[in-house]
Amino acid sequence: MTTRPITYTLDARDTIIDIEGSWDAFARENQAPQLQIDTVLGRPIFEFFAGSETRSLYRQILDRARQTGNTVEIPFRCDAPDVMRRMQLSIVPVGGGRLRVRSTLLEQQPRIRVDFLDRRAQRSETTVLICSVCRRVAAPSNGWLEPDEAARRFGLFDTDRQPAISERICPSCEHIQAGCRYLVTLTNQAPEQPLPLVVFLHGGAQSSWLLRLHAPPRITEHNALNRDYALVSPVCPSGSSWHDVDLESILAEVMARYPIDPTRIYFTGISAGATAVWNWASTKPDRMAAVVPIAGMLSPNPNMGRFPVWIFHGRNDPVVPLPFISGLLSRLRQVNPRAQTMIYDDGGHDVWSRAYADDALWSWMFQQSAPPPAS
Ligand SMILES: [Zn+2]
Repeated sequence: MTTRPITYTLDARDTIIDIEGSWDAFARENQAPQLQIDTVLGRPIFEFFAGSETRSLYRQILDRARQTGNTVEIPFRCDAPDVMRRMQLSIVPVGGGRLRVRSTLLEQQPRIRVDFLDRRAQRSETTVLICSVCRRVAAPSNGWLEPDEAARRFGLFDTDRQPAISERICPSCEHIQAGCRYLVTLTNQAPEQPLPLVVFLHGGAQSSWLLRLHAPPRITEHNALNRDYALVSPVCPSGSSWHDVDLESILAEVMARYPIDPTRIYFTGISAGATAVWNWASTKPDRMAAVVPIAGMLSPNPNMGRFPVWIFHGRNDPVVPLPFISGLLSRLRQVNPRAQTMIYDDGGHDVWSRAYADDALWSWMFQQSAPPPAS
């Protein structure tokens, strides 16, 4: 097995435009030994990741390098069931959104075979959490353990059925997300038409890692809606509010880098993110193709009649009680013929899971459009 580093170059849309070094290593790293080099050039890197968790993590790391303009160095593990491999990933922004990605094998050692790392293993009902970066396994009250130590502790050497694997990022590896201001996902990397853009604002303050687990990033990663669109999910860091986040510059970056239809930009958010979406829409009503605030504190404003809006709320919401926004809702019905509301009679604050699982929301949203921007 080769230990030479491999380097490849990605263009601004993550298409592989150059590969140097060992092809075997590239195929192995992407768990796709059947690939041939001539089928890879000119294709998006994300086609070559086996797991959506790994894909999503990698996407976030690339975004961080582009957004900060800094080289990102990440030690990571690429183990086989019976081999420990320590690797180093280096991502260098080289201008124009292009990145040079260098992957180096630092060390590999044989290890006692750990069957749960074998993709073909028979799985049981139980699940173990594995860190996507360092491949350590979460052990209740014992922190994060090496795979063989975890297998010993969980009694996995004496069983035919292995636990299912769920990927997370462990606290020691969380730093890799630092500096990532937003996540971007395109469900079609090479669209023939400009894509509609969905902007999703999360609730409360949280890391970009947790943000990925919310419904819009998750269903977009799997293309569960089976549509062509782009999703941008800005991050409101811990200790900040949406007032502090420069949404305008994030939008400008995304619009410059991807083919986006400026008449089809949709804003949706949950809780504090819904409030932010609503306030944003009221300052730029003519740019809103549609607005979908879910469980937000919404106040009347002079422009609220000027864009399509669908408000979702739970009748028993303890965080933003329905009476807080009922005045707004009745006023909105008078001034905005394109306003809809969905009140879940048995819903609390967390009604967004139901709302985003309802295809009616997405179908309605993607049918709306704004007037073309004045040139
Ligand atoms: Zn880790």
